[in-house]
Amino acid sequence: KLSRRLQAVADLTAPWSRIADIGSDHAHLPIYLAEIGQLQQGVAGEVIPGPFAIAEEHVAAAGLSERITVRLADGLAAIAPADQMQCAVLAGMGGFLITQILARSAATVASLAGLVLQPNQNVAEVRQWLAAHQWRITAEKIVFDDGHCYQMMQAQPSKEPLQYTDLEALMGPCLLQAGAEPTFVRYWQFKLAQRQKLVRQLQQAQTLPLEKLAALQREITLIEAGLE
Ligand code: SAM
Repeated sequence: KLSRRLQAVADLTAPWSRIADIGSDHAHLPIYLAEIGQLQQGVAGEVIPGPFAIAEEHVAAAGLSERITVRLADGLAAIAPADQMQCAVLAGMGGFLITQILARSAATVASLAGLVLQPNQNVAEVRQWLAAHQWRITAEKIVFDDGHCYQMMQAQPSKEPLQYTDLEALMGPCLLQAGAEPTFVRYWQFKLAQRQKLVRQLQQAQTLPLEKLAALQREITLIEAGLE
């Protein structure tokens, strides 16, 4: 059984059946997708030998070696044009690492019909990167799992140039549209309270850190707008 986080990531990979999971760790995601009958052909890429070996063992133990190819490779070097992958998943990594991996393999990224990304941090920067490279966010999820909140998104190539506002980048264009989803509201109310507390603390400092305060105030204004 997948964690709530990884289950939400898996749900965003529909409708694709040829999926590469980059930074697959133990290959839980492609194995699950094959077992539910969605994944026809997959690649599990891992850059570290230990997890790579365990991924191979898990795939073999599940009897899926024909369907899931496990490769020791850095980022999207795990897939070749001959693999005809439709979708790449990058989950459980920092946002900067995710955008770096995508930026280093522009030709491979351009060959895909979908991206499913779950950055652990810097989610807004990932959304801005997608827009700047003409990838439209087509679905998003926000879930609590084991005391942490995770956001994940599906993106597809856009024909027109696009840009997300600061509010959309921060809180997610699809999540904002979905309205008062309980997890979304709970998460952002928590973030809002955290920032308001920080502002109160900073205002008591001897010399006011004006730039930091202004940045926090901007974020507070955005979050309040998103929660309206
Ligand atoms: N994707 C899985 C998930 O969401 O549960 C595993 C997440 S795990 C925290 C991140 C994995 O990405 C690690 O196994 C790490 O070795 C791998 N990784 C980090 N940088 C990578 C890169 N450049 N190419 C391939 N894998 C990478």
